[in-house]
Amino acid sequence: MRKIVIAFFMAFFMMLPTVGIGESAGIAVSIDGERVVYTESSGKPFVDEAGRTQVPFRQTMEEFGCSVSWEEGTQTAVASKDGIVVKVPIGEKNVYRNGQKIENDTAALIKDGRTYLPIRVVLESFGAKVVWNGTSSTVEVILSPEESGQIQVHFLDVDQADAILIDDGGFEVLIDGGTKAEGGKVVSYLSNYVDGDLDVVVATHAHEDHIGGLPAVFDRFAVDTVIDSGEGADTAIYAQYSQKRAAEQCDYYTSAQERTISLPSGAKLEILPMSGSYDDPNDTSVIVLLDYQDIEVLFMGDASSEVEQNNLSKFTDIDVLKAGHHGSRTAGSAAFLQRVQPEYVVISAGLDNSYGHPHQEALTAYLNCGAKVYGTFRSGDIVMTTDGSSISFSTSQTLTMADVGAKSGSQTSATAPVQTTQPAVTKPADTTAVYIGNKNSMIFHKADCSSVARMSEKNKVVLPSAAEALARGYRGCQICQP
Ligand SMILES: [Zn+2]
Ligand SMILES: [Zn+2]
Repeated sequence: MRKIVIAFFMAFFMMLPTVGIGESAGIAVSIDGERVVYTESSGKPFVDEAGRTQVPFRQTMEEFGCSVSWEEGTQTAVASKDGIVVKVPIGEKNVYRNGQKIENDTAALIKDGRTYLPIRVVLESFGAKVVWNGTSSTVEVILSPEESGQIQVHFLDVDQADAILIDDGGFEVLIDGGTKAEGGKVVSYLSNYVDGDLDVVVATHAHEDHIGGLPAVFDRFAVDTVIDSGEGADTAIYAQYSQKRAAEQCDYYTSAQERTISLPSGAKLEILPMSGSYDDPNDTSVIVLLDYQDIEVLFMGDASSEVEQNNLSKFTDIDVLKAGHHGSRTAGSAAFLQRVQPEYVVISAGLDNSYGHPHQEALTAYLNCGAKVYGTFRSGDIVMTTDGSSISFSTSQTLTMADVGAKSGSQTSATAPVQTTQPAVTKPADTTAVYIGNKNSMIFHKADCSSVARMSEKNKVVLPSAAEALARGYRGCQICQP
C-alpha cells in the first residue's frame, strides 16, 4: 500500500516544476530550522517499509555540512564532518561511525538510481538530534552543537536509592530506576531526554531501591536492551520487574558475559563481569564502566569491598566513581581506591536516611584519595558533562566530614535547591535586528521568518543589512526571501 502511495506521489511530482516541492511533498526535512530543498534531480524523502524516513544522500548530507563521497567497490555512501566519518553501506542494517558499527533497523538503499539514507541513524551518528514533527510532517534535525560530542551523566536525586541516566545525543542508558515511590519522578525526568526508545536499561541488582522504579519505566518507554545480574529475588517488586521486563520483548543479557555497547559519540559502555560467588544481593551488582576517550566513569551499584578486592585487576584508573552502596562503609576499600584513584566521587543517598549513609569510614576514604565528593542528598540531581577530555559538574557543593549520615541540619544550605548549570548559550538575537543569519547553514532570514524561531540560539547571528549578510557569504532564505 505504502509503495503505491509513494509511486503515486512520485508520479504526481514528476509533473510539477522543481521549485516549491518541499512545501507540499509528503515529508520535509529541516536542519536547524532551515528547510532542505529537494528537487527532482536530488530525489525526495520517503518512508520505507520499516517506517523510517529515507532521504536523498548527497543533498541532505551537504546541507548538513558534510563532505560526501561514494565508494563504488563496497557500494558505500561516505559522509564526513568535524573529524567524524560515517560510512553507510547500501543494503546493510548498520552504519559505521569512525569504524565502529552502529546497528539500525533499516538499510540505505538505491531507488530510481539515487542513493537514500535512513536519516535518523546517520545524523545521530554526527551527534545531531532528529525529531519527527507530525504536525508539519517534518523531520527536524537539531545540530545542538552544545551537545554534540558531549555525554551527560545524570545522577538523579531519588532519595535513598540509585537512578542514573547516561545521555549520549540520541542514545540513552538508564542504570537503575530508584524505588517504586520514585518511579514517577524517574519517568518524568527521563521524558526530557529520551529520544524514541530508551536504548539500554541496566538493573544492577534485585533490591527495591534499584529496580523499584523500573516497572514504571517499562510502562512509559519502549526499551531496546535490558542487562541485569541474572540473580532474582523472592519479592513482589522483583516479580513485577521481571514480568514487565519479559513483556518488553527486548534484548536481554546478564552481566555474566563481558559486553561492550558502542555509543554514538564513540564512547563505550562496558559491562564488567565480576569473579567470585556472593550471597549478598548487593554483591551481584552489575558493574558498568563508561569509557569516553580520556574519561572513565565507574558505576559500582551496591557492590561491597569483597567484590572490589576479588576483582582488583579488572579496575583501572578512572575519573568519576559512583560510590558503591550509597556511601556505605561496606564499599570503597583502600586497595580499590588505590587502584581506581577517582577525581570525583558521587554518592547517591537520601537525606536523613536510616542507614547513616554516607558512613564516616567511606567518606574519609573518598576524601583522603583527594577526590571531590558530591551527594544527591545535598545537591539534588547531579549532572556531569564530559567531552571525552574534560569533566564538569552541575554542582559545586562538595561534601565534607560534616555530611556523614546525610543529616538535614548539618549544613546551612542542605535544603536549598542547587541550581543546575546549563551549557552557556548566547543571548537570544536582538529582535530589533533586521536580519538573522544561521552560522551553521550560512543562510539568513528576515527576523520574523518562522525558521528563526526554530534556530538554535547558538547558531544565530544578527546581521545589520542584507548587503552585509551577502558580503559575509550568507545566502537568502527561500521562504522569507530577505
Ligand atoms: Zn541500594
Ligand atoms: Zn542493594
